[in-house]
Amino acid sequence: MSKKFEKLGITTVQDLFYHVPTRYLDYSLVTTINKLRAGEIATIHAEIVSIKNIFSKRGLKMQIGSVEDSTGKLMVVWFNQPFLTRMLYPGKKVSLSGKVGFFNRKLCLSSPDYEMLEEEDSETLHTGRFVPIYAETSGLSSKWIRRTMLNTYNLLSKDLEDFLPPEILAKTKLVSLTESLREVHFPKNLEEAEEGRKRLAFNELLNLQLKSEMRKIKWDENTVGNKLVVNKSEVNKFIESLPFKLTDSQTKATNEILKDMSGGIPMNRLLEGDVGSGKTVVAAIGAFAAVLNGYQTLIMAPTQILAQQHYDTFKKLLSPFNIRISLTTSSVKKSDLGRNDIFIGTHSLIKSDIVLDKVAFVVIDEQHRFGVEQRRHLVKRTGTPHVLTMTATPIPRTVALTTYGDLDLSVLSELPTGRQKVTTWVVPEKKRKGAYDWIATQIKKEGSQAFIVCPLIEDSETETLADVKSVTSEFDKLKKIFPKLKLGLLHGRLKSKEKDEILNKFREGKLDILVTTPVVEVGIDIPNATIMVIEAAERFGLAGLHQLRGRVGRGDKKSFCLLFSNFHSGHAFTRLKAMEKSHSGFELAELDLKMRGPGEIFGTAQSGFPELKIASWNNYELIKDTKELAKEIVKNPKKYPKVRLNYATILA
Ligand code: ADP
Ligand code: MG
Repeated sequence: MSKKFEKLGITTVQDLFYHVPTRYLDYSLVTTINKLRAGEIATIHAEIVSIKNIFSKRGLKMQIGSVEDSTGKLMVVWFNQPFLTRMLYPGKKVSLSGKVGFFNRKLCLSSPDYEMLEEEDSETLHTGRFVPIYAETSGLSSKWIRRTMLNTYNLLSKDLEDFLPPEILAKTKLVSLTESLREVHFPKNLEEAEEGRKRLAFNELLNLQLKSEMRKIKWDENTVGNKLVVNKSEVNKFIESLPFKLTDSQTKATNEILKDMSGGIPMNRLLEGDVGSGKTVVAAIGAFAAVLNGYQTLIMAPTQILAQQHYDTFKKLLSPFNIRISLTTSSVKKSDLGRNDIFIGTHSLIKSDIVLDKVAFVVIDEQHRFGVEQRRHLVKRTGTPHVLTMTATPIPRTVALTTYGDLDLSVLSELPTGRQKVTTWVVPEKKRKGAYDWIATQIKKEGSQAFIVCPLIEDSETETLADVKSVTSEFDKLKKIFPKLKLGLLHGRLKSKEKDEILNKFREGKLDILVTTPVVEVGIDIPNATIMVIEAAERFGLAGLHQLRGRVGRGDKKSFCLLFSNFHSGHAFTRLKAMEKSHSGFELAELDLKMRGPGEIFGTAQSGFPELKIASWNNYELIKDTKELAKEIVKNPKKYPKVRLNYATILA
């Protein structure tokens, strides 16, 4: 069975205990046959009088039995479980839980759950109480899990030490660990189950909070390798040279960053800002400050295309100041590089053989694809530089408090003035033809360009062949719909050279429409593209849609986003409609968190966000409480001797 448990992610006793039920069946009404009422769900203890297999009129195999207790007799029916006649033979004492109904106009129990009784009054596990239903796998039923849970609990619960002292339990109104396990797996009622669950959720969140607090402590033990002196007046000269005035939040973020950079503890800051909020220039200011000290800056983008884009931007902004910038591709050799001030490349930059001993500032763009492992590698390669991670993913505050609790946060809360909102429509299927006509006209009349994005079929990190096939067939269809326009196809399975070629053609206006999978989601800046069409829009999280929408509306032309969907009502439709009204990524992310949960916001596979098994990202109170306690624990670890603060595992 252990193999099967492993399939459910259960390899230790702790895993088992934290395998909490998905729901409960209320079999708690234990009564006698004479008191049964049609429609109720009840449990009786009775003896089998007779049982046989019969075929119903419609050819179903049925098991019809008769049972009795001291108050009377009752019919019991099951469907398609012929083996029952071998187990429940006459004379057997059983506990039966199920719905009371009618069969041939007589009262009966219909497909009840059953359990053998040794004695009339022996304790039951699968009937006669609140019965937990667990996530199952083939060959491992809830019944099996229940039995294993009970045996394990009976064996070990007495020896479980609670890592939280009684004062904390009292203060936070939580039950003990042992009690919580009993309540979750063997509750007397739903209130108990809730209470037990709350404690386990608390544990789960506390664990995340402790990890991030420990990461913070560990990080703050570092001292900056290449110390910087921030020359404010020189930096201001650069800021004044910019073709625009910084927004208030850009100024605030810049000041926070420069303050960190002049300190002795390396910066570890997250710069969060909606698409188009102007994160790049903030990073450039930091890079400028580092260069003034004769140190190097690394800029790491998730893709080659974005690295190229950053390179162009940095060149434009910084070349008047005689700053040497290089774009590092995988084909560039160390000897080609010479001495440079700013290295721009993909995340693989840290694996290259460039000598990185003078690095004082590192920028990681779109951080969700940058793992813990890479981060550690980075620190190893570059000493301990100041690190700024940038993301356009609107992180709800509960997630920011937990997963990113170790990072300091700067938020770009507004877009530069003069930005136009992208007019957004949810387009029903019956208006598809009209929409295509409109797009064709728009392209001809305004000379604009359009993206048409097809969702991935399955939610996976990389595109599968099926995805490529589906986007390719859509591409063929669209070529027939727009015979006079030039269409290009972009998907993640193309070689990066092919991708670049297609994107460059699109950028240069040699293509009118770019048909693509969501690979365009991050960062691409093509000002002349003003139409974003998204197929099966309900399949995306709102934040994802918002990021896609952010690909247009970058120039001064009016821009449009068309969300195709077959949903005309209900939840999915309401969500999409929010896109017409809201243009704030944060607002949309919070809304999605309420309506669908975080997996939907970030797209599960790519998110890099931990999945919560028990707690919910919506539970702000619990997240706040665990945050407070985690801070207190790492500050006074001696007061909490049973909390294991293990640097090694936390940093792994
Ligand atoms: P993102 O935050 O999505 O990475 P970018 O840094 O690419 O955004 O900036 C988007 C565009 O906005 C760029 O063309 C940039 O030059 C411009 N921009 C940035 N800051 C300002 C500002 N304060 N005023 C006007 N335009 C700005
Ligand atoms: Mg960007």
